[in-house]
Amino acid sequence: MIRAVKGTRDLLPPATAVWNHVEAAARELFRTYNYQEIRTPILEETQLFTRSVGEETDIVMKEMYSFVDRDGSSLTLRPECTASVIRAYIEHRMDQWPGLKKLYYIGPMFRRERPQKGRYRQFSQIGAECIGSESPLVDAEMIELSLEILARCGIEGARLLLNSVGCPACRPAFVAELRSRLAAVKHQLCADCQRRSETNPLRVLDSKLASEQAVIETLPRITDHLCAACREHYTQLQEQLRLRDIPFAENWRLVRGLDYYTRTTFEVTAPGLGAQNAVCGGGRYDGLVELLGGPSVKGIGFAVGTDRLVLALSPKTAAARVDLYIAWIGATYPAAVRLAQQLREKGLRVELPHIEQKLGRSLELAAKLGVRSAVIVGEEELASGQLTVRDLSTGAQKRVAEADLVQHVQAAVPG
Ligand code: ATP
Ligand code: MG
Repeated sequence: MIRAVKGTRDLLPPATAVWNHVEAAARELFRTYNYQEIRTPILEETQLFTRSVGEETDIVMKEMYSFVDRDGSSLTLRPECTASVIRAYIEHRMDQWPGLKKLYYIGPMFRRERPQKGRYRQFSQIGAECIGSESPLVDAEMIELSLEILARCGIEGARLLLNSVGCPACRPAFVAELRSRLAAVKHQLCADCQRRSETNPLRVLDSKLASEQAVIETLPRITDHLCAACREHYTQLQEQLRLRDIPFAENWRLVRGLDYYTRTTFEVTAPGLGAQNAVCGGGRYDGLVELLGGPSVKGIGFAVGTDRLVLALSPKTAAARVDLYIAWIGATYPAAVRLAQQLREKGLRVELPHIEQKLGRSLELAAKLGVRSAVIVGEEELASGQLTVRDLSTGAQKRVAEADLVQHVQAAVPG
């Protein structure tokens, strides 16, 4: 038997209904914040990610699905979408479009991680980018939007974690200090963190290894080393969040797994997800557009992990109810087809069996499918123009004139 590739999943009904609901709620919310959708290819040139996400990050070092194409070029299945959006922004000269560029995306990402609950090799994100401003007001609205997506979908107990990772004016000096402090305690760290101590010291703060926590607690904190401009930005962001009644907790270790972040970084966690409790991650990327060859334009974005969002929702979705089952007999099939067309046009969920069945068998099957009611289209019914409608939960039957059927069924459907 051929199975789905490790770390990938089939989403089956009724779960797909939850996914559609979540994505529809997000789209509707984006519309009200005046964000528009962008759809970029799933395949990109590998260098897009090595340059933007950073050579020394987990994503680039060990998680990318890259392959050499037949013409010798290296391609990668996107591990995240910000780099792709910025590539498209530059390629299509969007800096010349008026106003802020407020874009959202929904779709699959690929990372070769160790699969576990809430961590897959193909997963989906709902994300947004706002390009064209460095204002902390933009950061605050972005954070509000990300939290609102979770709230609209019914997530309870979400927590916002906030940090500032500085800018090219203040971070290098801090990283240098961190590196020298790490050199002194390196022997207490794992092999990965020993390497990172030199190549990418900020990454060490990310470590979740229990044995390293005590040492990490003694390390210098970037929020104590911000330049005046970054400090002011961070203070204003916090004021803006208070203005919006958004509670937050500062977390100096929140450096996030991508190199392009500057100033604001944030993460949202939700209960009930175990170790993989981050449902949303985001941050500001003031140098990214230039890094990828574009103009000097600043931006901020976030991505919600849809798989984790759906996991965090309590599983209260029942299978969708079918509104009407049309039981037909022999020569009445053409009439049944027309009836189904009329009812579906009215938006009703209709099941028209494709094989003829005895009436009793037909109704039994309908009940199994979770159908609300069945209409019996027999010869006698057609001749009289009076159809029999049977409520499958109570067994009650009613004669309804053919012309009134649509209205009758619609009235019986809740909501
Ligand atoms: P984590 O710390 O859990 O690895 P991350 O920092 O790598 O997350 P981001 O790159 O910021 O995650 O992506 C944003 C969101 O996408 C995460 O908060 C999470 O909800 C989701 N996500 C990331 N990687 C995966 C994955 N392998 N499987 C499922 N969801 C994921
Ligand atoms: Mg990760």
